[in-house]
Amino acid sequence: MIIDTHCHLESEQFREDIDDVISRADEKGIKKLISLGSDIASSVANIEISKKYSNVYPACGIHPECCMGTDVNDLKRIKELILDNPCVKAVGEIGLDLHYAEASLEKQIEVLIPQMDFAEAIGLPWVIHCRDAEEYLVEIIKSRNYLTRSATGVIHCFNASQKAADLYMDCGFYVSLGGYITYPSSRNLLPVIKTLRLDRIMVETDAPYLPPQSKRGKRNESSYIDETVSFLADLLEMSPEEIEDITTENAIRCFKL
Ligand SMILES: [Zn+2]
Repeated sequence: MIIDTHCHLESEQFREDIDDVISRADEKGIKKLISLGSDIASSVANIEISKKYSNVYPACGIHPECCMGTDVNDLKRIKELILDNPCVKAVGEIGLDLHYAEASLEKQIEVLIPQMDFAEAIGLPWVIHCRDAEEYLVEIIKSRNYLTRSATGVIHCFNASQKAADLYMDCGFYVSLGGYITYPSSRNLLPVIKTLRLDRIMVETDAPYLPPQSKRGKRNESSYIDETVSFLADLLEMSPEEIEDITTENAIRCFKL
């Protein structure tokens, strides 16, 4: 069994054929999918999808790229959505992005921290998007003492330096690896992946984005995750079955599935 810990099934790109996408994943052994919101509308849409497909688990949150106009009412709405729907398994995706996001770092932090606090208070993990902002993220985690309590989370689309990887492992984070690890341009990331703790790694697609190398240029979907699993197995000198077992066990622990 494989768990796709990060996809966006509510995306416009799946509107026509979501049934087929979910059954193709099922046939390939991808038995659970976590579908992430980026704002209120997509969070609501993922909750609706999860009501129709019992193997889909929603997460709700406001992404740094969507946080420009976010105010206290939006944050309140996200909290209500989560409290009203026990099927929600994580708060995400949330985070910091100094590469693409328009909002200032200050604004991003203002939206991030209440969501992190809320997740901790109700015992849900964070799903964190972090781009070019590792030091700020780690500073927040450490200065707010989240990890001396029971907070935890996953760094999705992990693509960071050795220094950041060490910090994440020290912070007790999980990291999730997607199709991008199969790209020739990810060569420098591979030695870093080899140093990650085996009880902290998960796999994801980020579908419809970031398809693995053999599918580049196409829409990504969960059934393509096997390419990432095989690639990771070769890299870590393990069998694909071992990678499946390890990453599935980690995802079940992290998201309490
Ligand atoms: Zn995503």
